[in-house]
Amino acid sequence: MSQSNPDLFDQENCALMSARAVYNVEAGETDIYRTALGELVGHYDQLLRQTRRLIRHSDRQELEMNRLNHRLADLARELEYRATHDSLSGALNRAAVIERGERFLARNEMAMIVLDIDHFKQVNDRFGHPVGDAVICGVVDCLQRTLEIPGEIGRVGGEEFTVILPQQNYLQAQEIAERMRSMIANHDFSLPDASRITASFGVSWMPAGAAFATAYNEADAAMYEAKRNGRNRVIRADHLLCA
Ligand code: GH3
Ligand code: MG
Ligand code: MG
Repeated sequence: MSQSNPDLFDQENCALMSARAVYNVEAGETDIYRTALGELVGHYDQLLRQTRRLIRHSDRQELEMNRLNHRLADLARELEYRATHDSLSGALNRAAVIERGERFLARNEMAMIVLDIDHFKQVNDRFGHPVGDAVICGVVDCLQRTLEIPGEIGRVGGEEFTVILPQQNYLQAQEIAERMRSMIANHDFSLPDASRITASFGVSWMPAGAAFATAYNEADAAMYEAKRNGRNRVIRADHLLCA
């Protein structure tokens, strides 16, 4: 309700004006005062009832507005999560890995692990796509359980993953990759034939200011070398360059 509505308090104004007129009569009859007072009381009661109703209405509106604001904040968070995460495994998606890696590497040294599931196509071919999906989720779970320090796990391709390790050197990253490799190789993925899953790992390290693409390409090349060398192993990019 807005104050610009001219009719809103018409009745109350009339009662007020009559009461004023009666008040201005210096020696009026008692009945005149009683009638004017009675009218004033009646309208005052009505005014209180309307005011209470208005306050209750505005309280409800405020509650509803707060509820909508919370819902909006939840939706914004959900949207941000969906835009940055892989819907199957919950790992970061490719774009988010690149964005976070680039942002971090601009100011800090960073190690990176790239891994790819071995012979994954056979899992799909033998047991079906849903089982393959479950293996992807199981691998991400193994990576998450192994990562005890700050780091980001991303799914950058169908069955290829990246682990960004801020402020870790080559040796530390190699040890983490080795623990991840072992965790996956020893994990029971509950495949119908009880077979095991393995993955091949490449590790790179870059000083602050290096390009994210270089860090990724070096780790990726080391991972392919691990594939060529028999899979289920970890290879460091610096060892690759020295070879
Ligand atoms: P390698 O050891 O050389 O890595 O062999 P591979 O069989 O793992 O690799 P290849 O590139 O031949 O096959 C990868 C397969 O991953 C092919 C593709 O259908 C499957 N794939 C990709 N994304 C998904 C997914 O989201 N779910 C499932 N179930 N399969 C996927
Ligand atoms: Mg593979
Ligand atoms: Mg692959």
